[in-house]
Amino acid sequence: MWTPISIDQYVKIHLRKNPNDQEKTLKMRIDAALDYYNNGLKCRCGNDIWIVGSTTAPFGCFRCITGKDHPRGDYEIDSALDKRDKDGRRHIDEMDPRKINGIFDDDGYEINQKTIKMQPLCLTCMKYYIDDLEEQMLCNLNRHDQADEKEFKCGAYEKL
Ligand SMILES: [Zn+2]
Repeated sequence: MWTPISIDQYVKIHLRKNPNDQEKTLKMRIDAALDYYNNGLKCRCGNDIWIVGSTTAPFGCFRCITGKDHPRGDYEIDSALDKRDKDGRRHIDEMDPRKINGIFDDDGYEINQKTIKMQPLCLTCMKYYIDDLEEQMLCNLNRHDQADEKEFKCGAYEKL
């Protein structure tokens, strides 16, 4: 999970901890990392770069810079997180626990429910047409789990 922080706040905190660093240089590095990120350029491993970490290390993602899998309250510039929420795959550990909703795969990555393949069977099922978010979430998980199966099975199927 990230702790979102504005550029100004981060600069203040960083300079308090590293009084010998130059404010101007630090801001330039943040801008450069944000430009890099906003242009869609990635870490050499393919992940989004970590702006805050990239101010003191070569541009890279959290994992490549720290060797740890997921941030645990580490700072990240808020504008970069806004973008990540819209486009990137989110891991459950990187999300604010108060805002977690939706469904996640076995590795903890959020499943984009819009991209789950619809099954012909579902289109003839009562459940597909009732407005029950919890049922629909279960249906989506079932469809996601069997996305690569030849034959789709569903124990909750109710013929229309
Ligand atoms: Zn990386």
